[in-house]
Amino acid sequence: MTSIFSKIISRDIPADIVYEDEKVIAIKDTNPVAPIHFLVITKTPYISIVDMPNHESVYITAAIKKLANEHGLEDSGFRVITNSGADGGQTVPHLHFHLIGGKTLSHSLA
Ligand code: AMP
Repeated sequence: MTSIFSKIISRDIPADIVYEDEKVIAIKDTNPVAPIHFLVITKTPYISIVDMPNHESVYITAAIKKLANEHGLEDSGFRVITNSGADGGQTVPHLHFHLIGGKTLSHSLA
């Protein structure tokens, strides 16, 4: 199954791209929950974090750190979330990490 994120990666549908390299693309979430809400997406269409080889996680981490730095979140703080599966509330079955910041976030995670 081709996910909406694969169609963004292949440029079949538009997105507001904020970062891209060989392994990762990051876009603005179309339904942001905070002033900054990016989705950091693996170009390989893993479904969730359980499918990603450990060695690939460095590319995600590097992109998140770069975006947090570029958008002034390092000092103020931010949140990174990946939802996995039905109980995790995942709605797009293509691995992605929400990078959220730019305001004081709720303590509630569930
Ligand atoms: P999740 O529920 O963790 O799978 O997150 C999916 C996220 O993708 C949601 O926050 C949606 O708002 C976001 N989303 C869905 N379609 C698009 C799109 N075409 N461009 C940007 N964000 C999207």
